[in-house]
Amino acid sequence: IITFTEVNKWYGEFHALKSINLSIHKGERLVICGPSGSGKSTLIRCINGLEQYDSGQITVNSHLLDPKNLKAVRGKVGMVFQHFNLFPHMTVLDNLTLAPRRTLGLSKAEAETLAIQYLERVHIAHQANKFPGQLSGGQQQRVAIARSLCMKPDILLFDEPTSALDPEMIHEVLDVMKELADEGITMVCVTHEMGFARKVADRVVFMDEGEIVEIAPPALLFDQPQNTRTQSFLRKIL
Ligand code: ATP
Ligand code: MG
Repeated sequence: IITFTEVNKWYGEFHALKSINLSIHKGERLVICGPSGSGKSTLIRCINGLEQYDSGQITVNSHLLDPKNLKAVRGKVGMVFQHFNLFPHMTVLDNLTLAPRRTLGLSKAEAETLAIQYLERVHIAHQANKFPGQLSGGQQQRVAIARSLCMKPDILLFDEPTSALDPEMIHEVLDVMKELADEGITMVCVTHEMGFARKVADRVVFMDEGEIVEIAPPALLFDQPQNTRTQSFLRKIL
């Protein structure tokens, strides 16, 4: 559903992605880990065009990702960020109905029905009329997940969705992500939650210095890492 072929990206002189080759299958749950600055966010932001790449090819749903068809691709790729990125001056419900009304052309009533359905899925429908600032971090992140789902994406990208949360809230977000994973949506998730990766991921990618160093099912990558860079990273975090 997503392919990277010899993808390179530079920030000025800095080579941020180095000859990335990767194919992600429909329904796959892929976790990306690696040290800070290794290019994890850059890689997933390329998938929905938040960053442009300089050479090689990325395809999403067999469409080549380039500025011309960015809009069509982006509609099918949802993204959840570390800092939720909700509109603070809008209620939860309005946060969820905005994009479906604007870009899918739904009526207010249709969009609200859809929004409530997804808020129920993340167990937060009773908070629909609150403002984001009135919710806990974990609740806000679940609202952000519901907001992405309202666009009926084929692919959901997560960039460290729990790293801004207090420990007791991490689980409520990971539980929702596990439920989504069980429903078969394609997920690409940057996270340091290795327990989540072990349980949910089909494969784990280890990145370092802009390269994919190793990619393997979680049991193999965590228990028998082949590359010395993977080994030393895992020693630090596990
Ligand atoms: P972290 O775990 O800290 O989130 P990361 O693996 O997500 O790190 P990226 O954010 O992809 O790393 O950044 C990779 C490298 O590219 C870093 O060295 C970073 O400083 C650099 N970089 C990222 N964004 C930009 C930018 N807009 N301009 C210049 N350099 C950038
Ligand atoms: Mg990052």
